[in-house]
Amino acid sequence: MSDLTKLRARLSGHLVEPTDPTYDEARRVWNGMIDRRPAAIARCATVTDVATCVEFARTADMVVAIRGGGHNIAGNAVCDEGLVIDLSLMKQISVDPARRTVRAGGGVVWGELDAATQRHDLATTGGLMSRTGIAGFTLGGGLGNRMRSYGLACDNLLSAEVVTADGRELLVSRVENSDLFWALRGGGGNFGVVTSLEFQLHPVGPVLLAVSRVYSQRSGCSHRLRKPRPRPRRHPTGGHAGGLQWTRCRG
Ligand SMILES: Cc1cc2nc3c(=O)[nH]c(=O)nc-3n(C[C@H](O)[C@H](O)[C@H](O)COP(=O)(O)OP(=O)(O)OC[C@H]3O[C@@H](n4cnc5c(N)ncnc54)[C@H](O)[C@@H]3O)c2cc1C
Repeated sequence: MSDLTKLRARLSGHLVEPTDPTYDEARRVWNGMIDRRPAAIARCATVTDVATCVEFARTADMVVAIRGGGHNIAGNAVCDEGLVIDLSLMKQISVDPARRTVRAGGGVVWGELDAATQRHDLATTGGLMSRTGIAGFTLGGGLGNRMRSYGLACDNLLSAEVVTADGRELLVSRVENSDLFWALRGGGGNFGVVTSLEFQLHPVGPVLLAVSRVYSQRSGCSHRLRKPRPRPRRHPTGGHAGGLQWTRCRG
């Protein structure tokens, strides 16, 4: 039995190898210029899966890449020949409206987190793009919506669960493992695999509809955009009601 076959048998998620029909899709990241071929991609389903992969890679002396949302422009979520620890199956989200907090898995992206918290008229500083991963974003600091009121995403991080390079599963916060917590808040992804993140939430909304406009770059388009469009109006509930703003450019 090969080592990777043994790893596959220990995971409750999936291990994708180059012979697998889903391999090309699994190694693809947001930046289409990145074309790296890992030895295997471990789609982890649990914290135990992550710890198993970390231990496996350490023992086999393999390069590791960690994938949250796959949006890193340099393609750091995927490596050549090594093991990708892919958290994209770890999508659990748990909102506590009374404490105004949310805990979410390391594979959650901002659109998923915002949808879950917005049901309670709550949100935190998150990405401008809905498919950016909450983990990579927050570990790098995280500039986004609401930052002028509430700070960066990392300022709203209350705690995180982390699998360290030596395989320990730690809860980190201001009071527990506070030096690691300090490093996670903006220090990037080199301090362990973050399997879940807990954020402070703030009252927002309800936002009934928000639409951004995208203009054609074709010449001759701009003069058709001069007519003022209806602006979003304050909704009686305190949220915002927006109208679909739509521009069609002919010719
Ligand atoms: C279209 C687009 C829009 C963006 N908009 C913004 C923006 O508005 N504001 C902003 O601040 N940034 C923005 N970014 C940058 C983005 O926040 C970073 O690229 C971030 O790393 C993406 O997070 P991810 O989880 O998708 O990363 P991935 O590509 O999955 O991972 C990148 C790296 O982050 C680390 N990492 C990811 N997940 C984990 C984890 N669970 N545990 C440990 N390490 C991990 C690893 O080092 C990994 O190699 C944007 C990027 C793109 C492509």
